[in-house]
Amino acid sequence: KIERQKRAEKMALVGHLAAGLAHELRNPLTSVKGFCQLAKEATGEPTVKGYLDFANDDVERLIKLINDFLLLTKPSAPHLQPLDIIDLLQEIIDFLESQARLYEVSVVMQIPSCFPLVMGDKEQLRQAIVNVMVNAFEAISENGQLNVRLYSLADRIAIAFEDNGMGITKQDISHILNPFFTTKEEGTGLGLAITQHIVASHGGDIVVRSEEGMGTVVTLYLPVLEEKVKHMIG
Ligand code: ADP
Ligand code: MG
Repeated sequence: KIERQKRAEKMALVGHLAAGLAHELRNPLTSVKGFCQLAKEATGEPTVKGYLDFANDDVERLIKLINDFLLLTKPSAPHLQPLDIIDLLQEIIDFLESQARLYEVSVVMQIPSCFPLVMGDKEQLRQAIVNVMVNAFEAISENGQLNVRLYSLADRIAIAFEDNGMGITKQDISHILNPFFTTKEEGTGLGLAITQHIVASHGGDIVVRSEEGMGTVVTLYLPVLEEKVKHMIG
């Protein structure tokens, strides 16, 4: 048990140092990005402009990686409010519409006539859900279909994202929630780690089921607004 505690302390320290390092990296990178821009304006040379675009793209990728990483290591506590999850899902589906079209995926949400409110931080849950939906888009190659199903359970709700994409192998599935685990060339491996973190900080859960070549179902569970609270806010 002591060993385990030592290990946990060590991990916390490593996380802390990594977060500090990430912070320190962000400023100089932002400065590099600025100088890329200035250099591009200063040169008339198209080849040089092209090189600077490459440099700029990579710097942007790094900045995004660092921002995602910081989101994971220093998550702000969720600001919980009664939330209509169907409204939020509708907003997200609208927001991702052009991306869905690009990937040739049709997104279908089945809307129940009556659905409980959840306690949630809207912006954090938006991020958690977008990460899951973008993964589905990226897993789909043709005749893409992403079904969003809603379930109301005893004291929680479930949102299931069901895609007919490439699926996940048995080996990979136990790793996909780990930070930095990715099977994609340009992946960061932080998407699902962030989603898990957010959902867990809401007292919820994420469950992934998949069959290779068939598709994947990612289910997010969230606690519903308690009757007690409902009474207090009228
Ligand atoms: P990234 O998308 O940057 O790779 P994520 O944490 O979002 O990182 O996902 C981790 C890995 O989980 C992906 O690289 C992919 O292998 C797998 N994965 C996640 N969602 C799906 C899905 N819907 N279908 C197939 N594979 C998935
Ligand atoms: Mg992802």
